[in-house]
Amino acid sequence: MYQIDDTHDAGLQSWVESANHPATDFPIQNLPIGVFRRAGSRETFRPGVAIGDHVVDLLAARDAGLLPREVAGSLAGCEHGELNAFMAQGPHARRALRRALSEALRSGSTAQAALQAALLRQADIEHAMPCRVGDYTDFYTGIHHATAVGKLFRPDNPLLPNYKWVPIGYHGRSSSLGVSGQSFLRPQGQTKGTADTPEFGPSKRLDYELELGAFIATGNTLGSPIAMEQAEDHVFGLVLLNDWSARDLQAWEYQPLGPFLAKNFASTISPWIVTMEALAPFRAAWTRAAGDPQPLSYLDSEVNRRQGAIDITLEVWLQTSSMAAAGQAPERLMQSNFRDAYWSVAQMVAHHSVNGCNLQPGDLLGSGTQSGPEDGQGGSLLELTCGGKRPVRLANGETRTFLADGDTVILRAQCQRDGFRRIGFGDCAGTVLPAGKR
Ligand code: CA
Repeated sequence: MYQIDDTHDAGLQSWVESANHPATDFPIQNLPIGVFRRAGSRETFRPGVAIGDHVVDLLAARDAGLLPREVAGSLAGCEHGELNAFMAQGPHARRALRRALSEALRSGSTAQAALQAALLRQADIEHAMPCRVGDYTDFYTGIHHATAVGKLFRPDNPLLPNYKWVPIGYHGRSSSLGVSGQSFLRPQGQTKGTADTPEFGPSKRLDYELELGAFIATGNTLGSPIAMEQAEDHVFGLVLLNDWSARDLQAWEYQPLGPFLAKNFASTISPWIVTMEALAPFRAAWTRAAGDPQPLSYLDSEVNRRQGAIDITLEVWLQTSSMAAAGQAPERLMQSNFRDAYWSVAQMVAHHSVNGCNLQPGDLLGSGTQSGPEDGQGGSLLELTCGGKRPVRLANGETRTFLADGDTVILRAQCQRDGFRRIGFGDCAGTVLPAGKR
């Protein structure tokens, strides 16, 4: 598992001034990785690391001879804006990069003068997907979400009997994954309608889902399951993930094979991958409530019980088009915590591969919607509005049951613990456009 070392020291300061601001998501203790280029340019996307409100251009730093040889070598294959080759090298390469940048960006580092030339302002860049996602799988680890949604569909039988035994998931679609700033057309499709024939048209019940996504680092050979003890060695890091969902399409199509067109028109992630190393101080015990079944042995391990959970505060914010036009900031709709997930990241990896299924570098595993236990902690509008029956009232007087055209949904997340520096994930923003054609 992940060691806490001097790269997590709360006293570390950076010569990049904005990284020392208490509210930044990207202090020197975080160092998340993404790909970027100058906004509006036709440059090739390239890997970078966020520090305060700047980004370190890793290829520029490498080419200027500012990275140790081992670290410079580990970036080979990432020149075309995809991190898969770096991800495939596993935790060792990631830790070496983290250490090199932690030292080079510290106050007093002799690298400051030279490294300054490899810094850009985040305000001046744009992002792309950080890697080629071969396969995207969406799990359902939020038991409060599963129960609340189950109640809407099956009042007498909200949680199906397999839920507490199987980390439920389905295979999603990677082609429509996008990075924060993504906008998409309101999907059209079939809904149940009121007469004998279904209706066709734009979704009237468009929703978001608050999730985390785990990127796979090293994969496994087909036929060789990943054991719980090694599962997190195969994980690169986490991003925020908005699994946009058309509830009316979903309700009509989901039986018997599960979600299809209700989910595959767009899914948005945050641009910076927060590495498992950066999350080390925020690990928590993974537990089962008394009376719930203990996991089967292939889903159990001592290390998972000790620190399989991760304490990450998750939030959904909404900015309607009229709020944007009036210059009003987004409004927070809810908060929850990833600690409440029923299954851990390691259990998702172990379960996904237990039948021999091979994971590959850059694969993305969604956590499922992370709702909290309390009323008002729903990670989707479906829950917050009780299936559209209880509208959410915004400060400017607008109401929402489901999303309107022009709405921008922003997911945010942060980790805090006494004695450690707060880190965040940056924004995961996406905007709904009217139905029609691009
Ligand atoms: Ca989902």
